[in-house]
Amino acid sequence: MQVSVNKIYEWNIPLWNSLTERLESLSHGLLFTGVAGVGKVQFAEQFAAWLLCESASKGTATSACGHCTSCQLLSSGNHPDIRLLTLDEETEEEEGAEKSSKTKKPSTQIKIDQVRALEDFVFVGSHRSGARIVLIHPAEAMNLAAANSLLKMLEEPPPNVYFILVSSNIRRLLPTLLSRCRKVVFGMPKHEEAIAWLKSEGVKNAEKLLPLVGGAPLAAVEWATAGLDSQYAQAAESFADTKTDVVTLAGKWLSTLSGKSGAWRAEHLTDALQKWLYDLQRVQLGEPPRYFASAALTLQSMAKQASPSRLARGYADVSKIRSTVNHPLNAQLMLEDMAGRYLAAVAPQQR
Ligand SMILES: [Zn+2]
Repeated sequence: MQVSVNKIYEWNIPLWNSLTERLESLSHGLLFTGVAGVGKVQFAEQFAAWLLCESASKGTATSACGHCTSCQLLSSGNHPDIRLLTLDEETEEEEGAEKSSKTKKPSTQIKIDQVRALEDFVFVGSHRSGARIVLIHPAEAMNLAAANSLLKMLEEPPPNVYFILVSSNIRRLLPTLLSRCRKVVFGMPKHEEAIAWLKSEGVKNAEKLLPLVGGAPLAAVEWATAGLDSQYAQAAESFADTKTDVVTLAGKWLSTLSGKSGAWRAEHLTDALQKWLYDLQRVQLGEPPRYFASAALTLQSMAKQASPSRLARGYADVSKIRSTVNHPLNAQLMLEDMAGRYLAAVAPQQR
């Protein structure tokens, strides 16, 4: 795998210092966990680079130096002492009407063959008489057989072999695997810190965007790059218009979903609507909106007229729709159903 030495995101520096100061007591199974979009994978790569770095192992560098032989091998993708286990691309044969075509799709699982292929690497000695690293990401993608196979290696790890697992969803990891690893929890950066960083990266509308992604700065960058921020704003406008009817609203949603880029999908729309309904309920309780801060006034006037129990039901309905949204049988029907439930949820109460 290829890793170039670069900086640790500033909000992760305290964690970096606390880990690298204790090399002697470092566990051979490490699990990096926390919400998605705070830099866990980048941290794991830099941590691996540091464990392999020749200057760092002499105690003369607190992060990978970037120019020793080891760092150079890593940045050219030729380091023999590191392996990455991730979602491979799989070739799928699709039977078309005229001819079969082959497409490449990322696999949804890390499989046992991938773990077995590590055995020689883990149990035969190091090429460069230093550390050996296995990086696994996303660790929750290991299927049961793969996880069990890894567990055997983790039970008696050879000296100098480190397993670094990265996961944003540890509830899906085997409990036995969890108990074999030392958990390293990544927190969320402070709001002002994240905003300042996003601005330095040239992300526009950082204040609007960051709350929408739950505060994770890298997720905000991803959204801005894909243009999802303006799509969320557009969705919010459609939610604000409650004088419309079911078919018109669903039609409006459908037209945004069939946009050219394809980045804006039904899951984003339902996510936006769920967050909007969540904000309406918060505003009704006298709290500021969490996600759509820039639409506070609209939310307030809608919340004033709406029934709390119907808002709660609408939120539950949309959550249910969201869990199946990636496989709708009929997108238009699904959107009309959702539009109907939404308009019922926000309808002004009879006085
Ligand atoms: Zn180095």
